[in-house]
Amino acid sequence: MRRGVAFTGAGISTECGIPDFRSPGGLWTRNRPIDFDAFLASRAMRDEAWRRRFAMEEAFAKARPGRGHRALSRLLAEGRLAGIVTQNIDGLHQASGAPPEDVIELHGNTTYATCLDCGRRYELEWVRMRFEAESGAAPDCEECAGPIKSATISFGQPMPAPAMLRARELTQGCDVFLAIGSSLVVWPAAGFPLEAKRNGAILVIINREPTELDDIADLVIRDEIGEVFAPFA
Ligand code: NAD
Ligand code: ZN
Repeated sequence: MRRGVAFTGAGISTECGIPDFRSPGGLWTRNRPIDFDAFLASRAMRDEAWRRRFAMEEAFAKARPGRGHRALSRLLAEGRLAGIVTQNIDGLHQASGAPPEDVIELHGNTTYATCLDCGRRYELEWVRMRFEAESGAAPDCEECAGPIKSATISFGQPMPAPAMLRARELTQGCDVFLAIGSSLVVWPAAGFPLEAKRNGAILVIINREPTELDDIADLVIRDEIGEVFAPFA
């Protein structure tokens, strides 16, 4: 039996109501992301980052797993997938039943927050209450007064070492690598499909638009993810 790894991007969650970055109407066409240095450098940027996060809250809170998420959880349960490496921060793989230890989050998770200095965890609801009580000012850590940030990885922020290590192991151990719903332009994440291919795995790309790596893929399925996975969902 072949051993697969799924590598997912924002495109698997668009049918769940969470916009991606680069499609027309995507988040990037509205706002340039706030990078890590800017977040650290100014209180005004932290206020703005939290304002944007709470503007997205309804979409994140309402989202339910889509057909792609459900199909991948099923393939995991059947032992056909060794793991899911995701760039997504929405928690929908876990919500569709994938065991948390089989979901490798390269860019963190937006459903909670942490203090960047002492690591203390904060629930989003707490941050929101404080943010609203202070008329839109980002709260600081109660423990150490450090900056509180959603538990995601921003541009310029160090990648989480354990997740990178695990993703590398999975990539090197698979013989089929499915890249699903990613434009494959965000590094270092986009290095994984390249590495899989270099290791001799079959590279399959499922995306409705061309990606950076179509030329080296063994199979490109240019279609809606939900439709492709509907038979397995
Ligand atoms: P991206 O926006 O760069 O690319 C998404 C790709 O998915 C696009 O090429 C688009 O054509 C395709 N796509 C969108 N909907 C599709 C559908 N229904 N069927 C088939 N293809 C579809 O996303 P990325 O490569 O994941 O990089 C974006 C970064 O932004 C990631 O690092 C991630 O951390 C973050 N992000 C996450 C979410 C989320 O968690 N859902 C949403 C937006 C951005
Ligand atoms: Zn702290």
